Amino acid sequence: MVRKINSGMIDWFGLFPESTFENDTCFFVPSMGNTCVFDTKEGLVIFDVPLRQFAQKTFDKVRNFTNKPVKYIIFSHGHFDHAFGYGPFIEEIRNKGWDMPEVIAHENCIRRFEKYEILDKYHDWINKQQFATVIGRRKDAVVYAHERLNPTIILKGNEPSYSFILGDVNFELYHDKGETDDSIWLWVPEKKTICAGELMASSFPNIGNPYKVQRYPKDWAIAMEKMREKNAEYLVPGHGRLIEGKEKVRDALSITAEAMHFVHDEVVKKLNEGKWFEEIYHEMLEIYPEKFKKHKILRETYGCYRFAIHAAYRLYHGWYNSGNPTDLFPSKTNDVAREFLKLNSEVVYLEHANKLYSEGKKQLALHVLDIIIKGSDMKNKETLVDALKLKVKILKEKVKNETSFIAGNIIDDGIYQIKERLKELNSNKLR
Ligand SMILES: [Zn+2]
Repeated sequence: MVRKINSGMIDWFGLFPESTFENDTCFFVPSMGNTCVFDTKEGLVIFDVPLRQFAQKTFDKVRNFTNKPVKYIIFSHGHFDHAFGYGPFIEEIRNKGWDMPEVIAHENCIRRFEKYEILDKYHDWINKQQFATVIGRRKDAVVYAHERLNPTIILKGNEPSYSFILGDVNFELYHDKGETDDSIWLWVPEKKTICAGELMASSFPNIGNPYKVQRYPKDWAIAMEKMREKNAEYLVPGHGRLIEGKEKVRDALSITAEAMHFVHDEVVKKLNEGKWFEEIYHEMLEIYPEKFKKHKILRETYGCYRFAIHAAYRLYHGWYNSGNPTDLFPSKTNDVAREFLKLNSEVVYLEHANKLYSEGKKQLALHVLDIIIKGSDMKNKETLVDALKLKVKILKEKVKNETSFIAGNIIDDGIYQIKERLKELNSNKLR
């Protein structure tokens, strides 16, 4: 089943027409993710290529725009939707006997590619969950890291910048951490254009993705402020629509910087007050400013504020996050649930879960249902089935109200898993 995606995600997936700007010298190709092409008299500079699956489409669009050879390919970072859809461009270069282009990336991008090689199947597994509603339950690999284009020019460590000139146009690259530790962004002064990569992506920053490694809120804010100094006219995001006009560009960068400072600084303040994660999380939800909630650039279409709190917390904290020694060497949750079911039967828990649900306390109802779902020993199969069905009902309601694509997909994937279990329970009944 493919869930309908909202208008914010239509932008994120790049489902809108390509366009040119700066007197047709720059070409913006929306996709997952976006590509920006700079047309100089000596050839093309390409900033980012989409997911391998969309490479041909982006290539065809670029070739409708210009026939000049590709001289540089820049990877904003090494994610699958920004550095793997190079195939048709390289094939063309080989077919026409042109010189291979320079490929520019940060040194951490190479480490990322190496990581993808050892964790290939794992990344495919988590990405199928993160994108569950759009790619369905397909068995073939959605991402594949064993064929890749290795960088020829490598930005190292924290080196402030790297620049080159092609066809009298200056290209300046900067490394700043944000969504990843390998991100670089581009400033083209003659075109008044910044290509931000994933540092700007038509959503609240994807800083706390529940599946992914540490991300960097403070550095993200600093990157936004460095970009703002350029006074750009155009801001090319990694996903979503081109941001045009100095004021709009400035505003998008400023509000994102402010939000990233906020989440980082407030979590740090609470850590210094000696608070554990649960307390910090719920307090952070209380104090989230209205101006961020209302701002279009920060709408929670893909990432969300709730996830960002985790990112800021684990930047400085270890995995022991409850302050409760019970959690230091915990029992299996199924065993714990079984003990609770010795005190009260499944039916009593189910009744209570239904009561909580009818009072609108859906999250609490889920916790109570999990006692039955985890602890039930099949003697009470009817109640277990009812508990699973109520859980599905609550999760479906949650998905309906969930704006974040990632959060929605995680819940959706959970619903799918429960439905599979229900199918299994039903087929056992027939035997
Ligand atoms: Zn991306």
